Amino acid sequence: MSTVQETKVEKPEMKRKFYHLIINGEKLESSNGTTFKTYNPATGEVIAEVAKASKEDTEKAIQAARQAFDYGKWKKYPVNKRSRTINKIASIMRARFNELVELEILDTGKSLHAAQGQVMQAIEDFEFYASAIVGHRGAVNSVPGPFQNYTEKEPVGVCAQIIPWNYPLMMTAWKIAPALAVGCSVIVKPASLTPLTAIILGEICLEAGVPEGVVNIIPGSGSEVGNYLVEHKQVDKVAFTGSTPIGKNIMERASQTLKRVTLELGGKSPNIVFDDADLEAAVDGSLFGIFYNTGQSCEARSRLYVHESIFDEFVHKFVEKTKKLTLGDPFDKGTHIGAVIDQNQLDVIDGYVKSAIEDGADILTGGKVAQVKGFENGFWYEPTVIANVNHKMKVVNEEIFGPVVVIMKFSDEKEAIKLANDTEFGLGSALWTKDGARATRVANQIQAGIVMVNCPFSAFPGTPFGGYKQSGFGRELCIETLDLYTETKSIISYYGSRPLNPFGL
Ligand code: NAP
Ligand code: MG
Repeated sequence: MSTVQETKVEKPEMKRKFYHLIINGEKLESSNGTTFKTYNPATGEVIAEVAKASKEDTEKAIQAARQAFDYGKWKKYPVNKRSRTINKIASIMRARFNELVELEILDTGKSLHAAQGQVMQAIEDFEFYASAIVGHRGAVNSVPGPFQNYTEKEPVGVCAQIIPWNYPLMMTAWKIAPALAVGCSVIVKPASLTPLTAIILGEICLEAGVPEGVVNIIPGSGSEVGNYLVEHKQVDKVAFTGSTPIGKNIMERASQTLKRVTLELGGKSPNIVFDDADLEAAVDGSLFGIFYNTGQSCEARSRLYVHESIFDEFVHKFVEKTKKLTLGDPFDKGTHIGAVIDQNQLDVIDGYVKSAIEDGADILTGGKVAQVKGFENGFWYEPTVIANVNHKMKVVNEEIFGPVVVIMKFSDEKEAIKLANDTEFGLGSALWTKDGARATRVANQIQAGIVMVNCPFSAFPGTPFGGYKQSGFGRELCIETLDLYTETKSIISYYGSRPLNPFGL
């Protein structure tokens, strides 16, 4: 997703076998002693045991965050002091870069290249918000008569932040960094499948000088801990990244207390290749667009539309290059595709491919569970290209969240736009053309939060990330995110020389 640092990461020995909850600045076991195991999806091996937050622990974390917000010093710090502390978080992360990369690979099975880019982006997110907060301020508004009006941006309060498993550290950074910048307190619930790097990030926040209670990390189950956070009266905001069905459920529950809600949800992003595109660049970019992070990306460009006049040539090149993608040891520099997160997700992916076959589609390459030498107990799927599909098929309409792409033809610009927009989702989109006017015209008509023009990358610190339609609402990673963690207070004052007497009594 971002810049990749050239470093050699050795295969690590997992020295630490137990990870604690972080509540009120303390590393704690869970109140009822419950733990859960986390696995390396590449090998199927247990890598560590993690304290599992109970409802009681969740309540404790909420009270800690509440105290820290209502009576603590974090939000009262001058902006430059908060900014300095956030930069310190980034510099500790830089110093521990290799350790974070190793841990992320072990917990997710993703490739070295992907993990390095994501850890680097997580670091850069903190650096971005350390700078962005300095320019974040209210306004002076012009009003008639002897009145003055100005607005203040005040932190919204205690924020519950719920994280998915596909980008465990990067998503945690996207959420913690802006909330900290404006002065909020947070309770982070990592995904149960991938809790480790979020816990380390919580420890780093404390080490950097974030006061106790401001950052709490509580791994635990979504239905228990997640629901408790979402329904609690003393939580002011919930920021969720995950699947669309859970996002809808969260919005409904949060409505009972009128919590502020931001939702970063699923996608089925279109990728349009016009007849005048640089074919090689479009093939390489489209390959990255779907197979990066093993296709487990919310903005994976999983619907590929290619102009009919270049369809055969493009598909031939695309399939040949797909066959060259290497599945293997995630720690090897040459590995392109890492593991799928677990058996459940592997079954989901395979189920979609089988449904496509039943619907009459053609599998051009891949289409089955992969056998990877030395990783027989892990979860792997062959990069899969499916053609002869239409918009009535499940494989075209639903998010698969794996290394599977469908390819279709179009005959003109109008049809390409129509097909691209024929979806419930609206997160990413990409288009490949050398015609600048066409690029602008199509970008303007696509119903998606992100349009990538001749570009395979969807996000850098500072670029808004978020969806249209059922891909959610709110934008992360950008200046506007700061507004989503603040309330605007309007202060009106009278400066006339005579007292006001509106009733005239
Ligand atoms: P998920 O099943 O929706 O889970 C996401 C998080 O929500 C996990 O921490 C989960 O906890 C928690 N959760 C589950 N039920 C909950 C509930 N009732 N109340 C509160 N929290 C609950 O999604 P996932 O499978 O982890 O992630 C994949 C999905 O995320 C895909 O749909 C993908 O498109 C989306 N995603 C979107 C973006 C974006 O920026 N738009 C980025 C990344 C991923 P447990 O799993 O621990 O139970
Ligand atoms: Mg894991």
